[in-house]
Amino acid sequence: MEIGVLALQGAFIEHRKKLESLGATVREVRLPEHLDGLDGLIIPGGESTTIGKLAVSYGLLDPLREFTRSKPTWGTCAGMIFLAKDIGGDRQPLLGVMDLTVNRNAFGRQIDSFEVNLDIAGIEGGPFPAIFIRAPVATSAGAGVDVLARLDDQSIVAARQGHLLATAFHPELSDDARIHRFFLDLAASVSTP
Ligand code: GLN
Repeated sequence: MEIGVLALQGAFIEHRKKLESLGATVREVRLPEHLDGLDGLIIPGGESTTIGKLAVSYGLLDPLREFTRSKPTWGTCAGMIFLAKDIGGDRQPLLGVMDLTVNRNAFGRQIDSFEVNLDIAGIEGGPFPAIFIRAPVATSAGAGVDVLARLDDQSIVAARQGHLLATAFHPELSDDARIHRFFLDLAASVSTP
């Protein structure tokens, strides 16, 4: 199975290492043709405005929309913002494929980074050590979205919409590969006829 990691900006190397540690073949995606034949794609954390602008410059916005229509795709942090349909008033390029309303920088400056042990539906073996860095949250999710995890204040920090997955935190920075394994299993189940 070959998984792409969008490598325009942000924490793509960490995702690559995590996927390779699980035996996946990884391709860095910078141009539309790099999407050809992939079984899945990770859109990393970083800065969603930068990722969006670079995606426009490289002609990737429409090819990414097309890819995410049917192929397993996982957005982490900025990647979750980029997947979302609605981020309030901010104007920036979005894929707009996941039925989430997302609030960027939801935690403000004072506690802009923290770690929390998070129970995530579908992730067995106890809470996941979730690292949040200037993280977004989703404040609402459409009917087709399964909410997988919430913080105590009920904000949504992990969600799945069929073949699409979003996490507000950075699983590639934790010493725990369970969500990467979950995504590979998802990709395998979707790509198997
Ligand atoms: N705050 C960033 C944004 O708006 C996301 C931060 C991250 O990906 N760690 O894109």
